[in-house]
Amino acid sequence: MLDFRFTPAQDAYRRQLRELALKELLPHYRRNDEELRYPKEQIQRVIRFGNDYWRGREDEWDLIAVGINAEEVARGDFNCVLPSLGAPYQTQLFADFSEAQRERWLPRLLSGEAMIALGITEPAAGSDMGRLQARAVRRGDGWVIDGVKNSVSFLNAEVFYVFARTDPAASGWQGISAFLVPRDTPGLSFEAVDDLGCRAVPRGVLRLDGVEVPDTARVGEPGSAFLRISRFFDVNRAVIGLKCVGAAQQSIDETVAHARRRVVFGAPMAAHQSVSFALAEAETHLELARWQCYRVLWLRQQGIPCQREGAMAKWWAPRVAAEALHKCLLLHGHYGYSRELPIQQRLRDVIGWQIGDGSEEVMKLIVTRELFARDGATQGTPGDAG
Ligand SMILES: Cc1cc2nc3c(=O)[nH]c(=O)nc-3n(C[C@H](O)[C@H](O)[C@H](O)COP(=O)(O)OP(=O)(O)OC[C@H]3O[C@@H](n4cnc5c(N)ncnc54)[C@H](O)[C@@H]3O)c2cc1C
Repeated sequence: MLDFRFTPAQDAYRRQLRELALKELLPHYRRNDEELRYPKEQIQRVIRFGNDYWRGREDEWDLIAVGINAEEVARGDFNCVLPSLGAPYQTQLFADFSEAQRERWLPRLLSGEAMIALGITEPAAGSDMGRLQARAVRRGDGWVIDGVKNSVSFLNAEVFYVFARTDPAASGWQGISAFLVPRDTPGLSFEAVDDLGCRAVPRGVLRLDGVEVPDTARVGEPGSAFLRISRFFDVNRAVIGLKCVGAAQQSIDETVAHARRRVVFGAPMAAHQSVSFALAEAETHLELARWQCYRVLWLRQQGIPCQREGAMAKWWAPRVAAEALHKCLLLHGHYGYSRELPIQQRLRDVIGWQIGDGSEEVMKLIVTRELFARDGATQGTPGDAG
C-alpha cells in the first residue's frame, strides 16, 4: 500500500531540526559567507543533535531522515548540510571501504571533526568523466598518483577520495580506481577558487605530484571506482535536491510573510493574484521535487535501482529551487536585492548545485538512456545513424 506519511519520529525530528536551523544556523549564514568561514561549530551542533535524537532508535535513522536533515538544515545554512547528514549517509559513501578504512576515517567524519572531499573533476574531464587523465602507477607495495583535480569541494578536508586511471589501456570510465589520500601526504598542493556561492565551503584545485600511497589506501577492486561512485551519486542527487528545496522553501515562507505585510496600491501584495499565484506555482514545483527526492531515498532503502529517478531529481529540484528563489528575491523588491536578506545568498548557493554532481544536461542524458533503452532494440536509440 502506498503511504506518503512520515513517521511520528520523523515529523518530530523535522520540527526540532527546523527550530535549531532557524535559531542557531541562520544567524551565522551571512557572516560565514562574507568571511569565508567554514561553519564547523554549526555543523557539529547539527551532528550532536542528530546523534542524540536517534540514540536508542538507530533502526529508524534511515535515508528518509537524511532527506529531512538536508531540507531542514538548508533552511538555516545551506553549507552545513552535507557534512552533517550522519551515519546513514556516510554509510552510502563508505559502502565499499575496507574495515580498516572505516575504522580510520569514519569516527572523525561522523563527529564533524574532519571532512572528506571528492576529487574527480579535472581540467579536461567534467561531465565527461571518461576523459580523466590522473594516473596511479604501481610501485612496490603501493601506488604513485599524478594529476590535477580542479573542482574539489571541501578543499579543507582531512582526506581526499581521489580518482585516477590505473589501467592505461582502458578507456572511458573503465580502468579507473579510487584512493583515500590523507591531507598531509607529501606531494599534495591546494589552491582555492573564488566562488559565486557556497563561499563558506572552500572549493578549488588539488594537485597531486608524485603522491605515494600504500595499497591499503585503494578503495574496492582496481578499475571499478566509476561504477561504485555512481551508486553513491544516485542517493547524493536526492540529497542535493532536498537541500535546494529546503533553501527555496524557507524563502517562500519568508516571502509569504512579506506579501502579507507589504501594502501596494491599497492592498497587501498577497491580495494580488500575480503575486500569490507565483508563490503557489513555486510551492507546487517544490512539492513535486521534494517527493521525487524522497522517492529516490526510499527506492535505495528498499534496494531498488534508482539511477533514473536520482537523475530526474537532480535536474528538476535545483532548477525549480533556483527559479523559486529568483522569484522570491524579486517579490522582495530592492530589499531582496540587498545582502541584508538571505535570499540572494541562497540563490547563489543553489546555482552551484545546478552544476555540482552533474549538470542538468548530463542528468537528462541518464534519463534518455533508460527511456530509449526500453524499446531500443526495435525502435533505435538517439544517435543511431539508421
Ligand atoms: C558547487 C560545485 C561543487 C563541486 N564539487 C565537486 C567535488 O567535490 N568534486 C569534484 O570532483 N567535482 C566537483 N564539482 C565539479 C562538477 O562535478 C562539474 O563542474 C560538473 O560535472 C560539470 O563539469 P564541467 O564544469 O567541467 O563542465 P563541462 O563538462 O565542460 O560542461 C559544460 C556545459 O556543457 C554541457 N554539456 C556537457 N556535455 C553535454 C552533452 N553531452 N550534451 C549537452 N550538454 C552537455 C554541461 O551540461 C554544461 O552546461 C563541483 C562543481 C560545483 C559547481
